[in-house]
Amino acid sequence: MASPLQQLDAKHHLHPFTNTGSLNNKGARVITKADGVYLWDEQGNKIIDGMAGLWCVNLGYGRKELADVAYQQMNELPYYNTFFQTTHGPAAKLAEAIASVTPGDLNRIFFAGSGSEAIDTLMRLARHYWAIQGKPYRNILIARENAYHGSTLGGTSLGGMSGMHKQGGPLIPNIAHIRQPYWYGEGGDLSEEEFGLQAAQALEEKILEVGPDNVAAFFGEPIQGAGGVIVPPSTYWPEIQRICRKYDILLVADEVICGFGRTGNWFGSQTYGIEPDMMSMAKGLSSGYVPIAAVAVGDRVANALAAHDEDFNHGYTYSGHPVAAAVALKTIDIMKDEGIVERVGNDIGPYFQKTLRESLADHPLVGHIDGIGLVAGVALMMDKASKTPFPSHVDIGTICRDHCFNNGLIMRATGTRMLLSPPLVISHEEVNEMCEKARHCFDLTLESVRKLGVEI
Ligand SMILES: *Cc1c(COP(=O)(O)O)cnc(C)c1O
Repeated sequence: MASPLQQLDAKHHLHPFTNTGSLNNKGARVITKADGVYLWDEQGNKIIDGMAGLWCVNLGYGRKELADVAYQQMNELPYYNTFFQTTHGPAAKLAEAIASVTPGDLNRIFFAGSGSEAIDTLMRLARHYWAIQGKPYRNILIARENAYHGSTLGGTSLGGMSGMHKQGGPLIPNIAHIRQPYWYGEGGDLSEEEFGLQAAQALEEKILEVGPDNVAAFFGEPIQGAGGVIVPPSTYWPEIQRICRKYDILLVADEVICGFGRTGNWFGSQTYGIEPDMMSMAKGLSSGYVPIAAVAVGDRVANALAAHDEDFNHGYTYSGHPVAAAVALKTIDIMKDEGIVERVGNDIGPYFQKTLRESLADHPLVGHIDGIGLVAGVALMMDKASKTPFPSHVDIGTICRDHCFNNGLIMRATGTRMLLSPPLVISHEEVNEMCEKARHCFDLTLESVRKLGVEI
């Protein structure tokens, strides 16, 4: 029997990335409150949130300090824009705070309301940069298959999700895609290092194919998140960096998931030794408490903009929103005060990676575990020895995800990969609990697929 909230929801709420008909028949799960790394649903079930919401609630739920600064800022100055030559304390201070943690010369900050908006900003900025260099023909953007860069028309076109490309087109022109660095799935007989180089060299091939003089920028997530936590081989990013320099192409890191500590450094670019010209950030920037995103711009592009005597005709009503900026500023303060990033790098990240492998690596369903810091992807296989996937009528990811949901654990499924990305404040005991629950749910998944007649 649907609860009153489920009924309202089914009648009036269209959900993102959802099959509306089937959700409305089943009823959405209603989340009522949260604290630390736990959520509670309408039935009173306590659930450990292995995804930090959508990769964003890095400081955990129930942080009163963040609520307090939002309340204070709303009373003092709830809104003012940053168009037309005005600014305010929260936007100026947050820009400085972000610049204090970004690597290299990424010291100029443009604000947006979401990761998708940040990506759209970067797409326009990359092309505009070349236009004001007198090379408007340099407008091709290169990204990867199975990349996720958001859901606006810009993000959809730049991303490499085939399911998204099918809908709402035609897509934005002059975008090209190369293969992803997914060694376990696509590496064949190559060693991880060899495959990483080969996957990166696909960029050089693409540049030569479309003409080096036509390419504006390469965009990539340091680790592909929504694509299934695809952790690149160590040889991948240095080769990408080398190729971008060789052809004088802007390198843009989409740090929306990796930024703010997820991989054990402030940014995934630092984990992989990337020196991007620009980067996007969102999710962890405010720990998910309010919507805010940012683009960090290095000297090359920032100086060109400053030297060009014309407006950059781009911006959002909520660029640098004072309440959101105040919460993000407090988030960064807390992360520094509590040494959150160092803890992910030196303590809880390695502990999570070790415990997850101890719990799951020998499980009959588990083909391979990828991960670093507090993010991991687990490939489910029908036969791990021969790397045989499940037949398409067995929706293994959904079966496993439903067992998790029903047993007090949130894991996300991307195809046949199960993902974890818990709050960065998770304790050792909570990591143990999360991994034990995952093992239990994988056992239940195994039982379910055997009932479907699959022999494992
Ligand atoms: C989530 C995400 C986005 C889009 O962010 P939204 O805030 O959902 O618009 C873009 N890039 C990456 C890598 C993401 O994970």
